[in-house]
Amino acid sequence: MRATKAIIYLDNFRENLGQVKKRAGPGRRICVPVKADAYGHGAVRIAETALAEGAYALGVATVGEGAELRRAGIRAPVLLFSQALGEELGELVSLDLTPFVSDPESIDMAGRAAALAGKTITAHLKIDTGMGRMGCRPEEAADLARRIGEHPRLLLGGTATHLAVSDSWEAEDRAYTKAQLGRFQEALSAMKAAGLDPGIIHAANSGALVFHEDALFDMVRPGIFLYGYSPAGGSPLEGELPVKPVMEVRSALALIKRVRKGESLSYGRTWTASEDTVAGVLPIGYADGLPRLLSNKHRVLIQGRFYPIVGRICMDQCLVNLGPGSTIPRWEEAVVFGPGAETAAGMARQLGTISYEITCGVNKRVPRIYQ
Ligand SMILES: *Cc1c(COP(=O)(O)O)cnc(C)c1O
Repeated sequence: MRATKAIIYLDNFRENLGQVKKRAGPGRRICVPVKADAYGHGAVRIAETALAEGAYALGVATVGEGAELRRAGIRAPVLLFSQALGEELGELVSLDLTPFVSDPESIDMAGRAAALAGKTITAHLKIDTGMGRMGCRPEEAADLARRIGEHPRLLLGGTATHLAVSDSWEAEDRAYTKAQLGRFQEALSAMKAAGLDPGIIHAANSGALVFHEDALFDMVRPGIFLYGYSPAGGSPLEGELPVKPVMEVRSALALIKRVRKGESLSYGRTWTASEDTVAGVLPIGYADGLPRLLSNKHRVLIQGRFYPIVGRICMDQCLVNLGPGSTIPRWEEAVVFGPGAETAAGMARQLGTISYEITCGVNKRVPRIYQ
């Protein structure tokens, strides 16, 4: 196996799921988003682990992601968060995926595909209450719910919305979330007044799970918390749920070498030794998911101490300054990020992005090892 690998601590995932369950309260269903290969952690193993712990459903973004779960023998409901193309609907129906629908055309297309296969499928109505992405306007919800209910091949299994700023503690953002939830409630009331059953009602992503108790409804869909990170990059929310990072990316020193004062390392000569020192080569680069923008900015953990990455991060390799007189041996392991070392959240902060992008960015060629 490669020196560079991602250890997936399933126990941490289970603990995080336990925290989510506790916060959601008894009787509430949990949908575990496993889109983007479970945020880089491996969709099948994460899905199996979540279902064994009592999760009700899984969430994916593409029909292909749903197919991977079904091929692995997973029978639980799989919600398809994004709109599929017409040509994908036959496969969607044969896989028994549950699409989000948000307009008459998407309802009719799903109904036709189901009829063609001689099957009935369940769809969830998606209402746009202020995220501004997929979803119908709240005032259209009742009519669309009726359209689904009247279709002989469709069942309305649920009604959902998605929140834009639920992870923010700012007063203005909290008010915006409240307004989103108000519009959602109005749409639900209109549906109920028209005698339509909205099915499983769900809205809460990770941020809402922690900060908006009135967003929990029948089911929650927290993703990033389950993988051990806060949805907000910022500080006040950190530690609100005691979750632990699930992924640890490791590599090993493939070469140790002496570097003399004045010598430069790697492309562009962005780092020059200011004294005689010892450097190590790690076979991990931006193609593995270690962002090149972290060149000269990141630290790896070796034998319990941090050492800086020096020079440009290359496609497949990078360099570490082990310091003058280092006695660290070749092949020693280095933790690039994970619990107890630099975290995806810290890397994201350096880069002006979110931890999601760091874990999703760990490339397929990095083997996942489950522990
Ligand atoms: C990704 C996603 C989620 C999970 O969001 P987190 O911020 O990771 O909790 C929930 N619902 C939908 C529709 C999503 O696309």
